[in-house]
Amino acid sequence: MAKKKAPARKPAFSKTVEAALADLVIANRILANENVIDAFGHVSIRHPERADRYFLARSRSPEFVERGDILEFDLDSNPISPDGRTMYSERPIHGRLYKQRPDVKAVCHNHAHSLIPFGVTGGGLKPLLHVAGCIGAEVPVWDISEDFGDTDLLVTNNDMGDSLARKVSRNRTCLMRGHGAVVATHDLKSVVFVAIYLMVNAALQKEARALGTVKFLSPAEVKLTEQMNFKERSQNRAWEYWARRAGFKTAINV
Ligand SMILES: [Zn+2]
Repeated sequence: MAKKKAPARKPAFSKTVEAALADLVIANRILANENVIDAFGHVSIRHPERADRYFLARSRSPEFVERGDILEFDLDSNPISPDGRTMYSERPIHGRLYKQRPDVKAVCHNHAHSLIPFGVTGGGLKPLLHVAGCIGAEVPVWDISEDFGDTDLLVTNNDMGDSLARKVSRNRTCLMRGHGAVVATHDLKSVVFVAIYLMVNAALQKEARALGTVKFLSPAEVKLTEQMNFKERSQNRAWEYWARRAGFKTAINV
């Protein structure tokens, strides 16, 4: 007997929101494929039609995230439709950044290995590469022990999320001592772009330091390269490149 075809899933959201969620799946896969995130780490977007909500996958390695894994949260990081699935314990990172920064539309939290040495040695991570002006002139370091003493270093409640968001302040990037980093930007493509080049810049800075004194981008160069990095054509070109490397052949919004 012919197998009955499963009914098509009825979209719960508008076309605009569904398109944004499809891109969020791509962003998960890109960040995994480029080794920004591994089994851990995550990426979210603010709800395109409701500033008091955001979307983030259920607790799953980003490499495997699919549309059906994406959940909706309020800014206190409560799920809108709890369905018993396990959630990322560090979702307050996202909720509190969206709460404190109305301009932020996408957030990535990651544990990229090249960032860790800078977080445990007092920082000093600065852009030295023209595609990394977007990380900002200085990358602050948040040390969870300053507000919370000895912990397992995870950001698991809203007080911790608030503390981290205060340290991020108006920046796009912030290191988390002994843990990783957070990237917060105006849209999904740029959060992917900044997260990747933050990681690349850290690796290059370590390499360059071993060779001698590093000449970083000047403050004016940071401003000019930021503008270049965030041009639509730069963002689209990079997005298509990374999306195709991650196995997406179609549905790339370029
Ligand atoms: Zn983490």
